[in-house]
Amino acid sequence: MTAPEVVLATRNPHKIVELREILAQTGVEVRLVGLDRFPDLPEVPETGLTFADNALLKASDVAHRTGLPAIADDSGLCVDVLGGMPGIFSARWSGKHGDDAANLDLLLAQISDVADEHRQAHFACAAALVIPEVPGLGQSGSPAQVVREGRIHGTLLRERRGENGFGYDPIFLPDGYDRTTAEMPPEQKNAISHRTRAFQALAKDLAELL
Ligand code: IMP
Repeated sequence: MTAPEVVLATRNPHKIVELREILAQTGVEVRLVGLDRFPDLPEVPETGLTFADNALLKASDVAHRTGLPAIADDSGLCVDVLGGMPGIFSARWSGKHGDDAANLDLLLAQISDVADEHRQAHFACAAALVIPEVPGLGQSGSPAQVVREGRIHGTLLRERRGENGFGYDPIFLPDGYDRTTAEMPPEQKNAISHRTRAFQALAKDLAELL
């Protein structure tokens, strides 16, 4: 029997490679494809109020339009002293979507007066799996959905350190480490990241539900 096909709702090839590796480690046999297989699918607006909402919105839309089981994720940085913000607004904190440098500069300015002992934050990731209503798939041919979350806790530095990673990595020092996630080689960051933790949990659901 050939392994079932599952769509990862991303056009980023690195995310597909990353998830394939996690699935391989977990022993889940699926054929993971990206949205490049479906070039005409529209972008799904991230209108939810939580990471889980946004991940589910994207996975449901892709599952519905392709008829295939779909996985999507949403992630961000939650700063304790800011009540969990930037949170779901992490990618557009400075107003412009995806401007990592401006987002990080704004955050650093906002917490410049915050003492070292109060600079705790965590990265969070929600990973959603939606299995559409296809006979033979899912437990009784009915739609199924599940969301898993992963987190990594740390503190925020006052200046950037390191060239790897993206987003807020240059100021994020994970608890128990003396390197920021931007100073770590990608394998080390991936081994402890919020995304890996969420996907590892979801891999178990995939194994059970497919
Ligand atoms: P997403 O791609 O919609 O999940 O948005 C994620 C946003 O959160 C990114 O643009 C980054 O600003 C931030 N973010 C999420 N994960 C990470 C990470 O691993 N390192 C640094 N920033 C991250």
